[in-house]
Amino acid sequence: MGSDMSTGLDLSVVIPLYNEADNLRPLHDALAQALPKTSRTFEIILVNDGSRDGSEELLAEIAASDQTVRVLNLRRNFGQTAAIMAGLDHARGNIIVPLDGDLQNDPEDIPALLDKLEEGYDVVSGWRKNRQDDNRRSFVSRVANRIISMISGVHLHDYGCTLKAYRREVIEGVRLYGEMHRFVPIYATWQGGRVTEIVVNHRPRTAGKSKYGFNRIFKVVFDLMVVQFLMRYDTKPIYVFGLVGAISILISFLGGLAALYLRFFEGTSLIQTPLPLLSALTFLTGVICILMGLMAELLVRVYYESQGKATYLIKRTSDSPDRPDAG
Ligand code: UDP
Ligand code: MG
Repeated sequence: MGSDMSTGLDLSVVIPLYNEADNLRPLHDALAQALPKTSRTFEIILVNDGSRDGSEELLAEIAASDQTVRVLNLRRNFGQTAAIMAGLDHARGNIIVPLDGDLQNDPEDIPALLDKLEEGYDVVSGWRKNRQDDNRRSFVSRVANRIISMISGVHLHDYGCTLKAYRREVIEGVRLYGEMHRFVPIYATWQGGRVTEIVVNHRPRTAGKSKYGFNRIFKVVFDLMVVQFLMRYDTKPIYVFGLVGAISILISFLGGLAALYLRFFEGTSLIQTPLPLLSALTFLTGVICILMGLMAELLVRVYYESQGKATYLIKRTSDSPDRPDAG
């Protein structure tokens, strides 16, 4: 994404595609049906994430037949989040709508998402209330969504739904790693954006295969930890490391005192209890934690100062009421 805020184009639809050849034509047809109903100028960005099923040729044909379509062919398979990121980087629209390319998301939902955005939101997230995946998966994802909601304090039913609508400003500058596309609403809230959700259609996959297995859960859990850490302690890592270090040193002292008590009042020999060992280990852990915290503080300063980044975000100022401060 360029840093210019106004691009002249209303809407960019961004679609990650990995081995979806059989879905491409129906997908394009569905988009060509749905998007004109938004009465906005739009572009469709199809990101071919290293498919090896002839998608590239088919996509070239589609792009040649429709001037609203732009195709990005990635060099190899980088994963869904990276593919979406590539699309965001090339999007020119003032509103950006990513969706899955397997037709499980329904392009007919896009007009409703945009209407909701117009009510004054910065992010409208899709909620696949009537989800068409197997039961085990739906269950796991319900539990996961509860946990993410609780931890992040951003209350949505369905983080995993790719279909969302964003105002350009709230994702300008966001970099996505791992499986993090699902956490953009959290990121947006953190940037001061207003977030809501609406129920969207969800359909079973009719062609191609799902690219994910059970291991996604672990990735999502770790990504959430990172997001959470960055959100709370972005500029003050010493608070986290320092707290853990302090607790560890406290345990060390308590263990040490207990050992001395046992030695002098109960006559227990110091090698008969694990307490001295515990005390030494927790002391070391504590010191290392605090040193890591100080290192992290250095990193934060390097990060912000070397890139001239501010530790705050300005919505608007009195001398430029209509434009966020571009720096
Ligand atoms: N996808 C991708 N790169 C990948 C894996 C998936 O671009 O490495 C795309 C895929 O083609 C689809 C979307 O991401 O358009 C969602 O993938 P999938 O349907 O397999 O996920 P599920 O619906 O099973 O969660
Ligand atoms: Mg799917």
